[in-house]
Amino acid sequence: GRCRQGSAAGDTATGAADRAGRQYSAGVLRMSTLFLKTLRDDPADAEVASHRLLVRAGYIRRAAPGGFSWLPLGWLVYRNLERIVREEMDAAGFQEVHFPALLPREPYEATGRWTEYGDNLFRLQDRKGADFLLAPTHEEMFTLLVKDVVGSYKDLPLSIYQIQTKYRDEARPRAGLLRGREFVMKDSYSFDLDESGLQASYDAHRAAYISLFDRLDLPYVIVSAMSGAMGGSASEEFLAPMDVGEDTFIRCTSCDYAANVEAVETPVPAAIAVDGLAPAVVHDTPDTPTIATLVDFVNGAAETRHPTRDWTAADTLKNIVVKLRHPDGTVEPLAIGLPGDREVDMKRLEAQVAPAEPEPFGDDDFATYPSLVKGYIGPGVLGADNTSGIRYLVDPRVAEGTAWITGADRAGNHVINLVAGRDFAADGTIEAAEIRDGDVCPECGSPVEIARGIEIGHIFQLGRKYAEALGLTVQDEHGKPVVPTMGSYGVGVTRCLAAIAEAGHDDLGLVWPREVAPADVHVVIAGKADGPQIPAGEQLAAELEAAGLRVLLDDRYGPSPGVKFKDAELIGIPTIAIVGRGVADDANPTIEVKDRATGERQDVHLTDAVAHLTTISH
Ligand code: ATP
Ligand code: MG
Repeated sequence: GRCRQGSAAGDTATGAADRAGRQYSAGVLRMSTLFLKTLRDDPADAEVASHRLLVRAGYIRRAAPGGFSWLPLGWLVYRNLERIVREEMDAAGFQEVHFPALLPREPYEATGRWTEYGDNLFRLQDRKGADFLLAPTHEEMFTLLVKDVVGSYKDLPLSIYQIQTKYRDEARPRAGLLRGREFVMKDSYSFDLDESGLQASYDAHRAAYISLFDRLDLPYVIVSAMSGAMGGSASEEFLAPMDVGEDTFIRCTSCDYAANVEAVETPVPAAIAVDGLAPAVVHDTPDTPTIATLVDFVNGAAETRHPTRDWTAADTLKNIVVKLRHPDGTVEPLAIGLPGDREVDMKRLEAQVAPAEPEPFGDDDFATYPSLVKGYIGPGVLGADNTSGIRYLVDPRVAEGTAWITGADRAGNHVINLVAGRDFAADGTIEAAEIRDGDVCPECGSPVEIARGIEIGHIFQLGRKYAEALGLTVQDEHGKPVVPTMGSYGVGVTRCLAAIAEAGHDDLGLVWPREVAPADVHVVIAGKADGPQIPAGEQLAAELEAAGLRVLLDDRYGPSPGVKFKDAELIGIPTIAIVGRGVADDANPTIEVKDRATGERQDVHLTDAVAHLTTISH
């Protein structure tokens, strides 16, 4: 074997690590033998750059819907990323454990998640007909393991984690590694005696995530989040702000408020005294089934015109009916009242009604509720106490004393000045209206800006839900049993790999940060079969490797220099060293060193090459 000074991790059959632990394949990686095929064209099913480029550059291949196989270059990057995540967790004092993904139903039944997880859960049976699942996340199992092992308050606080494959039957597996059905997550769980302990554990995880994402050079925004299917209270997400992300968040333009739109709370306007407000009047408004036709009509007719200004869509109250499908299979209609200038944001609605799922209210459904007149639905028939009996939740802007133009529950009729709290009452409020650029910040009132992001991490204060459901207690200092309070913290490891590729690519291909790159230097031999480039390139690669750098050597005979350069750009190793015409100059032999990220090129004397490349690689 080769001797590498100070090498921390020992060589293994498949690979080894440099002094910093970075993974490389034992020996110089050679393009001539590497299990790799680069593609000139984009795969047809790839919607986003990371997916397109990871496939084209020979890192991953699609194996199943939402499932990918890793080729050597991809696996080197994956293992680097996994190592960095592990180092950061270990540095924070969290201990690594490992669970199976194939789990029995019972613990998930005990917390209600066997059902609540809905269609996203992969359920299966063993040969005896016993129910199993492929775990989407592991709160139950960590709780049970701690129950098994920990007995006393003296063992707390405790934070444990694993890096493991998760399974979710995502409705829309898309964008390659960004949303898989089988993906790797680092999931941590904290156990504390009380709220202040939980806060300290939460803060420790938050700090570890900041350190991790800083190290990965991933841009991120920390936003307030909904806790979703997890249950629990305080929760924040780390979003990498990129347009390909599926999360939408807002950021205040003046204070430091930032939130996932799912978690944004609309400022509630102050109640208006209803005394003295004009009475509600029903008008004939023929052919006005949409907000636009309604606004045109009421502005156009003398008896409906506003006394001092034009009506706008924001003056109308639109009532949308959806069906909620609960995890137990029951279906319930729900009416949502919101200002007519805003649409229902399905993701906000889904977050509010989870674990139930909203579905469209179709013509068949209208037929079973004859008091609902399509296009003219008003609060008059809505609400638990009204003729339809349909639960009615309104946007927080529909506050006491606000007056609205809304449906009169008869075809071609609307009512003007229907006042909330005087003429109708809802069963509650709901945060389902879309959030817009320029909306007011709930903290300071300044305008907010809206952007999209990739959720790369999520931290939750779970509380006692899981510990209670699974009977986890520890003895306190008086010997009395107490229920610990928990936190749960996730990083999408494979998703982060794709996010790094999204953040660092250009028209030519991938651009890896050095720490996760599959090699430090890509040595490209660009010369004829009998030229001096081959021995010079071979020697350079061997010397770089001996100096502790991770090297990919393009030693292929067939492809032209042009093809080799294209492949090097596509593969995205941070430094490209071209051994070409320059080495033939006996008086002054040089190689060309190119920085993949900046495109800067520099001629370096052959005798200085190893020192130069070593310096820029550290
Ligand atoms: P999303 O809203 O994107 O579906 P989630 O909120 O359901 O994600 P969590 O349960 O918070 O996900 O999981 C922790 C982390 O695991 C997420 O922050 C994300 O980085 C990653 N993750 C979740 N689902 C997937 C997936 N289908 N593919 C890849 N990574 C995922
Ligand atoms: Mg999440």
